[in-house]
Amino acid sequence: ATEQKHEIIANGEATAIMPTGGKQKPITVIGTEAIRNTFDDLCLQQAINSRQAPGVTDLVLNPDAHCGYGAPVGCVMVSPSHVYPGPVGVDIKCSMSLLQTSLPADAVDDKKVRRALIKAICDRTPTGAGRGQRNVPKSRHVDEALGKRVLVEGASRGVCEELGIPAEWANHCEDASHVGHNDSTGSLALRLEKLLPNMYKFADKMSQLGSYGGGNHFGECEVVQVGEDKRSREAAEVFGLVDGGVAFLSHCGSRGIGHQLATGQFKALQNKFEQWDIPLPGQDKQLVYAPLGTAEANAYLDDMALGANFATVNHMLINALVLEAFQEVIPGTTGQLVYFISHNIARKEIVDNRPAWVHRKGATRAFPGGHHALKGTPFAKTGHPILLPGNPQAGSAVMVADEGAALSCYSVNHGAGRQLGRKAAKRALDQAEVDRSFDETDILTNCRSYPIDEAPAAYKDFDEVLHSVKSAGLASEVARLKARFVIKD
Ligand code: 5GP
Ligand code: MN
Ligand code: MN
Repeated sequence: ATEQKHEIIANGEATAIMPTGGKQKPITVIGTEAIRNTFDDLCLQQAINSRQAPGVTDLVLNPDAHCGYGAPVGCVMVSPSHVYPGPVGVDIKCSMSLLQTSLPADAVDDKKVRRALIKAICDRTPTGAGRGQRNVPKSRHVDEALGKRVLVEGASRGVCEELGIPAEWANHCEDASHVGHNDSTGSLALRLEKLLPNMYKFADKMSQLGSYGGGNHFGECEVVQVGEDKRSREAAEVFGLVDGGVAFLSHCGSRGIGHQLATGQFKALQNKFEQWDIPLPGQDKQLVYAPLGTAEANAYLDDMALGANFATVNHMLINALVLEAFQEVIPGTTGQLVYFISHNIARKEIVDNRPAWVHRKGATRAFPGGHHALKGTPFAKTGHPILLPGNPQAGSAVMVADEGAALSCYSVNHGAGRQLGRKAAKRALDQAEVDRSFDETDILTNCRSYPIDEAPAAYKDFDEVLHSVKSAGLASEVARLKARFVIKD
């Protein structure tokens, strides 16, 4: 139950939550009334704890919010003075990427072609917890030495060449390479050397490069539907989206290595808080933190960067392997990375004219055209693509930020967001009905039966979520993505 009382200040689609007695800036809430009703007590309590945590200057709750690890999934937390591992989470730099192929929609009409594509992709990019390149027949060899380069360099030209990834794709990344706490790759190399002796099954983890992992991670073949209006057409052109073309959407993160780095950090910081008897925000040990400039903050920022680099190259390699799979089934297919963007990361950005760490936990960066940080990128004029998964049946979306995104610290949601927990979904939903719904919508999957806790009904109403974002003036829709097959677990 919500122990702390709070006041809700309604203001159109952008409401605010004011913790009682607080003199701080209230929590910014993005969501229609229907969406606000999806926030349960624990989610709101986590938002309040996060808002009142030391050094936090801004907290945004997005329409896809639900309870998470210390901070809600679907929130943005800003601090000019502290880093928080909880609001980055255990899957460091979980991200979305989109590959536009040269194929027209009807190339994937035939079920046999789609089944062949599923097989060709699964032969190269395994799904499921723990699995890596070694578990698939058409794998890439990733040894320890290459793994170390990936962790330290991210998607550098050298790493891309080594793995057969078009180096040009680095220009279509939110961040192609992450550097360490002192803005150098040198500090990452040193940190990695220090960590290595205690790394459990390091070589196995490196071999997970180019794999999805389990749970909610997926690869999905899409047909692109660009909006009819002029702005959508123009943005689509810049993004390289082809109306009526086949694209491929991927969702995954930093796999075992990211998990190990994150949990190592949680343990180390939680020990410190206990040892020194430091009060925890909301008495929640998932909200441990480190003040910038301390050895603890430096170690966290380095570990986050190592995990983030793995996640980045993981996506790049998956996209290269997916393209190779398409080429095996439909020779002559070409492909171009539209964008790669994270929803679990802390980034140093300028907020209210000063540098701050913007923690996006299940939230997506949303810089509009003209934003200073996009200068020199292909998206300087339009704003960068925002990739938002919904669910296979409701579809997914590509959006672009509007000026109004300043309200949410230049962030939007990261998907539909859960409305049923995994256990609740298993209790409430019927397996046969879920499987039938995939048949009826002609969406193939690699699973014998679709994971029930991942069924579309386990997620919030995607249109209502998008409506919340649009009516708050944060972003506009450029295209919808309609699923033709899903690879999951
Ligand atoms: P996360 O797991 O990163 O918190 O959530 C990612 C988002 O992906 C979810 O909120 C949900 O809307 C979306 N999602 C989950 N599974 C699928 C899927 O199989 N296909 C699509 N298109 N979206 C999905
Ligand atoms: Mn993830
Ligand atoms: Mn994710």
